[in-house]
Amino acid sequence: MPAGIYLHIPFCKSRCSYCDFATDVYRDSGAVERYVRALCLEISNFRSEISDPIDTIYFGGGTPSLLRPEQVEQILDSINLRFEISDLSEITMEMNPATVTPETLAAYRSLGVNRASFGVQTFDDRDLKLLARGHDANDARQTFRMLREAGFENVSFDLIAGLPGQTFDNWSRNLDEAIALDPKHISLYLLEIHQSTPLAEQLRTARRPMPDEDLAAEMYELMLDRLAAAGYDQYEISNFSRPGFASRHNSKYWTLDPVFGFGVSAHSFDGHQRYANERDTAKYVELIESNKTGEVMREDTDIASEFVFLGLRLESGINLAAYKQRFGIDLQTKYAEELNDMTVSGLVEIVNGNLLLSRKGKLFSNEVFAVFV
Ligand code: SF4
Repeated sequence: MPAGIYLHIPFCKSRCSYCDFATDVYRDSGAVERYVRALCLEISNFRSEISDPIDTIYFGGGTPSLLRPEQVEQILDSINLRFEISDLSEITMEMNPATVTPETLAAYRSLGVNRASFGVQTFDDRDLKLLARGHDANDARQTFRMLREAGFENVSFDLIAGLPGQTFDNWSRNLDEAIALDPKHISLYLLEIHQSTPLAEQLRTARRPMPDEDLAAEMYELMLDRLAAAGYDQYEISNFSRPGFASRHNSKYWTLDPVFGFGVSAHSFDGHQRYANERDTAKYVELIESNKTGEVMREDTDIASEFVFLGLRLESGINLAAYKQRFGIDLQTKYAEELNDMTVSGLVEIVNGNLLLSRKGKLFSNEVFAVFV
């Protein structure tokens, strides 16, 4: 099975109020140059015993669309020198509104970038301000037009639901606009509050209303109905696509295919173990420049357990015969009591030999996953 490559680009125009990703504000082009050199060095020095072919590459961040096309080319050249890359590779770049021009998009496209994961989040200017996104809804509309004009057919929208003060009607209007623009793929995120962020502080000091979890669940259900009616397939709990446009890269995480991560805070799975790089950008660059690995964590994983709770995220669920063949035990025997309870509660079902989350199970998916962790 071909592997994927994840590249973390830790620079953004400004810091969003809810963000706890490993990312810095883009201030100094010299620091970005140095980071790109370190990233390329990490790729060139990658473990010589690994020779998996690659068929997906994903530039995530941060805001990778702040990279100059020459820097993207430099990174792709390093990958091409170290790995065997399939001609049919999916190459995704995360892009934020108002960070690209028609020229940079045309250049990315000519370098082989063929999928854009576009950080729309919401079409409501008030909410964009709350999130300190650094762009407005018109920027999103205009950048989407530019993506289309530059030949990006495969565009995914990221939307966030459950924002403080967001109403059901507001969410419904967001869905209307997203569907009208007709991207090939839509990803939904429910807002998570991370303790050290400005948004968490605003909620603690009651400057913003607390997000309403029941309302967020209603928003999720509305999304299921509206996107199904508009012809999108839900292939994963939070991901919807036109037929044939599911994310090949992200699917690797749910089917336990290897993904090698490069860059600060990048995580990897080599088919047996998970490992992660240093989370501080300056320290990461120093480690790589002194010919050390950026890796700071490595652990064995319980693959049988991950097979179940990651596979259950997929609409297709997990195939019970495949589980038995891979792990030598019958899943329905191993978890007899738990599966019985969850079936009676209407959280899971077995259809054609596959164990699946029901619609109710999707709403309470964390409770189901906890059984298998
Ligand atoms: S654009 Fe994304 S990575 Fe950058 S600060 Fe905002 S949420 Fe974080």
